[in-house]
Amino acid sequence: MFAKHPILGNVKIEWKKCQTKNQACVWCGELMDKGFHEAMLTQEVKGKKVNLWVHAGCLYSLGEALQTDHPQMMCSRIKKNKSAGGIKCLHCDEAIRKNARVVTLDNSSDHIKMAKSIQIHEDCSSDFGHRLQNPIVK
Ligand SMILES: [Zn+2]
Ligand SMILES: [Zn+2]
Repeated sequence: MFAKHPILGNVKIEWKKCQTKNQACVWCGELMDKGFHEAMLTQEVKGKKVNLWVHAGCLYSLGEALQTDHPQMMCSRIKKNKSAGGIKCLHCDEAIRKNARVVTLDNSSDHIKMAKSIQIHEDCSSDFGHRLQNPIVK
C-alpha cells in the first residue's frame, strides 16, 4: 500500500518525489537528491505555501530532537522563538498566535536565497517528534 502521508491525518507532511537539488534537508543540512521520495512539509504563510524537505532517513533523528527540551542545540536549522503569528501549527493545525512560543524549522542550508521557515507550537513539538519517529512507510 502506498501511504501519501507519513503521519496519519496530517496532510501537511507528504511523501513526495523531490524535484530540486537546491533545497537541503532540515535535519542533516545536506542538499536533497532529485528523484527520490522524501518527506515534504508544507505550511501556508500569508496565503503562500512554504515547503521544507527532510530525508526519509532523517525523520527519526529530527523526531528525537523535537522530543528534547533543547532541539536547537542539536541542529542549527531548529530554533525556539516567538511567532509573528498568522499561521497554523504544522502539527495540530490550530492557529499560532502572535508571540506564541514555537519551534521553528528553517532552510538556512538551502542554495535558494528565499528564507523559509515552518512553525510548530512549542507544546506540540514533543508529540509531533514522537510521530515523526514512527512514520507510515511510503
Ligand atoms: Zn537529511
Ligand atoms: Zn500545535
